[in-house]
Amino acid sequence: MKELTHYINGQHIRGTSGRFSDVFNPATGEVQARCPLASPEEMAQAVAAAQAAQPKWAATNPQRRARVMMEFVRLLNRDMDKLAEALSAEHGKTFPDAKGDVQRGLEVVEYCIGAPQMLKGEFTDSAGPGIDMYSMRQPLGVTAGITPFNFPAMIPMWMFAPALACGNAFILKPSERDPSVPLMLAELMEEAGLPKGLLQVVNGDKVAVDAIIDDPVIQSIGFVGSTPIAEYIYGRGCSNGKRVQCFGGAKNHMIVMPDADMDQAADALIGAGYGAAGERCMAISVAVPVGDETADRLVEKLVPRIENLKVGPWTAGNDVDYGPVVTAEAKTRILGLVESGISQGAQLVVDGRGFKLQGYEDGFFVGPHLFDRVTPDMDIYRQEIFGPVLTTVRAGSYEEALKLAMDHEYGNGTAIFTRDGDAARDFANRINIGMVGINVPIPVPLAYHTFGGWKKSGFGDLNQHGPDAFKFYTRTKTVTSRWPSGIKDGGEFNFKAMD
Ligand code: NAD
Repeated sequence: MKELTHYINGQHIRGTSGRFSDVFNPATGEVQARCPLASPEEMAQAVAAAQAAQPKWAATNPQRRARVMMEFVRLLNRDMDKLAEALSAEHGKTFPDAKGDVQRGLEVVEYCIGAPQMLKGEFTDSAGPGIDMYSMRQPLGVTAGITPFNFPAMIPMWMFAPALACGNAFILKPSERDPSVPLMLAELMEEAGLPKGLLQVVNGDKVAVDAIIDDPVIQSIGFVGSTPIAEYIYGRGCSNGKRVQCFGGAKNHMIVMPDADMDQAADALIGAGYGAAGERCMAISVAVPVGDETADRLVEKLVPRIENLKVGPWTAGNDVDYGPVVTAEAKTRILGLVESGISQGAQLVVDGRGFKLQGYEDGFFVGPHLFDRVTPDMDIYRQEIFGPVLTTVRAGSYEEALKLAMDHEYGNGTAIFTRDGDAARDFANRINIGMVGINVPIPVPLAYHTFGGWKKSGFGDLNQHGPDAFKFYTRTKTVTSRWPSGIKDGGEFNFKAMD
């Protein structure tokens, strides 16, 4: 059995806690590796190495730090297929989707090459007589991030690229379900020229996370994962005086107006609802057609598309639309929610429960499901399913559809499909959700904008990547400086006329 390691101070270190978790091949159900779960002592070792390495890195000029990012981009492109294969093998997502996972992280690294520009402070000349005022952005010191299983390349890079570009050290505690790609990324950063101890990977579970939260040296925590854990880390991290940003779960609604291009809306829903087996925080999980006629037309378009979805292992390359879910536990949970939908009265229009794939009987595959006539009191509406299950809630009017999305506790992403610019504009203005798509189903902002949900999907003041990341990973110091005048008049050496 392959045993994974931690990556501490530039070295692969075997776990010493005696605790491990299984890493599965989700397509076959087999355990393919075991992941060490760190003890507080192992975390303390990483913190000490980070603390020793960080001051020199902070004193390295930002352009040199940016050059490391530049080289890292080259290496990511060089190793793209290798990274994507390792990612698919542990996560289960398709090979093209795994490349997308690396690519969306890489784009944030590219953005961080602009660190020298982003880190420039502000300057006021002559704020008073002989007084100048300037602010500088200084790194925090040792920072840490805790990441989810569903984007094992992208989300770590969203955190460590800006953290390092700003001059911090970064300790990553990735998901124990798919830790291989984060370990590979740490090696690649060192190959790109990052000194040892600045990017470390400490694998683990709650024990490692609690060690991060309670460590007095660690200055900031970035978290992405489910909402209960986000709330826990945000609360405890803030009360320990750290800077914390936590991004949680989602339930993303897509409003379909009667005037929408129904083929376009149906295609969008298929990709956004079932892509990556629905294991995306920006997946659309609720379709909200406005009016019964719209709903009937939409469902009619959806059903054949869903029935044609190809579900299979990543090794099938471009021949699969989505792969297995991450664990047997996730599969059981999803199918349990499907049962609850049926018993609570929703109409199961496409039933994926009997899905089987020859040769992969023990894999964690879940067939695609479509529910119609879902109501807001049902568990399948209230909870994040995180599987290939699309639900349809019929709204009587635009206002009802808007209110539905606004009343949901999550506020990560949403979309409206319409040909009416006025409706789209009104929706974008009034909705209390962080990321909005207009005829775009998964509105994930690009690297130079920021990413973040509202309500129970995001905790903290700043978003991920874009300009917010440079604020999150630095502290502002403002200097008021006065140089009294008169020194230059102090001495008199000229032979003056005695008049
Ligand atoms: P998770 O909350 O189970 O795990 C996330 C991280 O927290 C992992 O590193 C895990 O080891 C750690 N963790 C788990 N239990 C913990 C505990 N009790 N105490 C401390 N740490 C703990 O989430 P997941 O299943 O890996 O990822 C899926 C979730 O992440 C979904 O809810 C999804 O919506 C969310 N997500 C959100 C975003 C976003 O940007 N809002 C992006 C991706 C995923």
